[in-house]
Amino acid sequence: MAIRRVLRIDNDDDKKTLKMHCRPVKLPDRSLKQLVADMFETMHANNGVGLAAPQVGLPIQLCIIEIPAETEERDDGTVVTIAPAEPYVLFNPKIVKTSGEEVLRDEGCLSLPGWYGQVPRQTWVTVEFQDITGKARRLRRADGLLGWAIQHEVDHLNGILFTERIRDLSTLRDVTQPAEQSELAV
Ligand code: ZN
Repeated sequence: MAIRRVLRIDNDDDKKTLKMHCRPVKLPDRSLKQLVADMFETMHANNGVGLAAPQVGLPIQLCIIEIPAETEERDDGTVVTIAPAEPYVLFNPKIVKTSGEEVLRDEGCLSLPGWYGQVPRQTWVTVEFQDITGKARRLRRADGLLGWAIQHEVDHLNGILFTERIRDLSTLRDVTQPAEQSELAV
């Protein structure tokens, strides 16, 4: 396995790849197992919940998502896992149905580390995709973090960046800046 470089929105050469319409993947293709493993390793190394193939320089219709495990701290200080992490690997995903209802959420992207802005997203989406064996799959009415991550990653595969979805650009801010941190503390 290997951690791959994540392309950046604020790098002109990287952005050319990030703006590409990704080509569909012909399945099954076992040779893509290594790429999927690398993408998970890269996502984990960057503390992300999703990553699209174009973000590691490959304009193909593949994205991964991992909803973090839910943990709870007991009174004695031990941490127990309530729900395990849920990994998803989506080839050729298509959003086939949406709630028709929007919600504004604070969103970031591994291709613009530290920056967050208010992005309108559907409250749920139904997505059809294929697994690595080529089997057709569907996630019905995915909501919450999973639903938002699907919309963000499918956007990547169509060359759409989260910064382009932001309606009020004044909400886009660098949370790693000291000024912003003190602002948040107030
Ligand atoms: Zn992203």
